[in-house]
Amino acid sequence: MNKDKSLLFVVQQHQAMFMHWDFRLEMDGVLVSWSIPDGPCTDPRTERLCFRVEDHVYGYKDFEGIIPGNDYSSGKVIIWDRGEYNPHNIEAACRLHETWLAAGRLEFTLYGEKLNGSWLLTRTPEKMYGEETWLLRKVQDQYAAGGEIVQECPRSVVSGKTVEEVTAADGVFNLDNYK
Ligand code: MN
Repeated sequence: MNKDKSLLFVVQQHQAMFMHWDFRLEMDGVLVSWSIPDGPCTDPRTERLCFRVEDHVYGYKDFEGIIPGNDYSSGKVIIWDRGEYNPHNIEAACRLHETWLAAGRLEFTLYGEKLNGSWLLTRTPEKMYGEETWLLRKVQDQYAAGGEIVQECPRSVVSGKTVEEVTAADGVFNLDNYK
């Protein structure tokens, strides 16, 4: 892969109708996204169910604040973790959307403030609620650890706030800013 270009990942904790963590990987200029109801887990024995959700524009990586309205996504968002990632398959990395996503198996290294080391995302044959279901799992390495990092490290890596502490002063989502 082109080492001059680093790829971004971000995890946004989203207190909407249901709490979840949105795991996003930059691919071809957009943020390919999975919603994880229980959040990522650094214990390799624990697989986390994910729903593949709509791609987000790249600029959404910086959003922290309130999503107004009265629908399933309305609520509070923090940037729970953010950093760079490297796909493991160098050939696939040149054509991330086509090769990686079609194969349904993504192995990559995260360089975040909370999440690090090797991770694996695999698609399952099942769909739920019309969405592809995937499983996220930590690969055994020096960054593997027991416990629940989403509970133990709940604060935004940007503001230091928990998702409950977010107010409109932190930002109000406006779709016009993300087109
Ligand atoms: Mn969400």
